[in-house]
Amino acid sequence: MSESSWFAAYAPVFGAFGAIFGSFLNVCIARWPKDESVVRPRSRCPGCGGGIAWYDNIPVVSWLALRGRCRRCGEPISVQYPLVEAATAALWVGSLWLLGPSLLAVRLAVVATILLGVAVTDAQSYLIPDGFTINGLVVAMVGALAGALLGEQLPFAGPWDAVVGACTGAGAITIIGWLGEVAMKKEAMGYGDATLMAFVGALLGPVRALLCIFVGAALAAAAFLLLVYPIVWLRARRSGTAFEPPLVPFGVFLAPAAVVTLLFGNALLGWYAGRMLG
Ligand SMILES: [Zn+2]
Repeated sequence: MSESSWFAAYAPVFGAFGAIFGSFLNVCIARWPKDESVVRPRSRCPGCGGGIAWYDNIPVVSWLALRGRCRRCGEPISVQYPLVEAATAALWVGSLWLLGPSLLAVRLAVVATILLGVAVTDAQSYLIPDGFTINGLVVAMVGALAGALLGEQLPFAGPWDAVVGACTGAGAITIIGWLGEVAMKKEAMGYGDATLMAFVGALLGPVRALLCIFVGAALAAAAFLLLVYPIVWLRARRSGTAFEPPLVPFGVFLAPAAVVTLLFGNALLGWYAGRMLG
């Protein structure tokens, strides 16, 4: 098949899988921070407590058809639900486009889905639930073994690099958090950041795991110094209250940094080594 015809053939399948996984991701985002099961009970409307019929639970489509309201009580349903579903579908189609119809594309899609969950949950609740990171670590390790057996691994780390990468990622972020705590005399990094970097390190291997923390820190610094702090500062000034710098949910930035480093990390490191040595 030519390049465009396999894409046209597989894109609807990847998009549909992505939307379904995105629908499940919404459940994880809502329930894991509260330590609730993502299997039981079935989804209910938070307004009237009524069960949601299958035809009202079709990703994106149902929300649009119901115009964002519960069929029974008319309570608004957050736009976050269709947005997460659409974004996950886009991540799956994007993975197919980048890596072709392969196990590699499925691995990238699953990993990107988990990282999207991490980013949204951390942004909302300053928590990175173990559900994402422990399952992510398992996915990364099983993926590395499967990739080694099938002989198609790049851009993912091989099994040995995955083990060393998990330890490097979790260790490095723990050391940075500890130093930050000593310097700022308050908690700088949560336990969730360490488990996240164990998962991400298993995807990237040790060198790119360190690069990922660097890229994440750069993204976080840019977002907070250029956008978040000025807005909070202006608001405080307007209301005449003291400027209270908000905490940085580092997972929000580590998650996209992980995907960027997975896809472009080696090129970036090669370019840097070329400049240093050449
Ligand atoms: Zn309702």
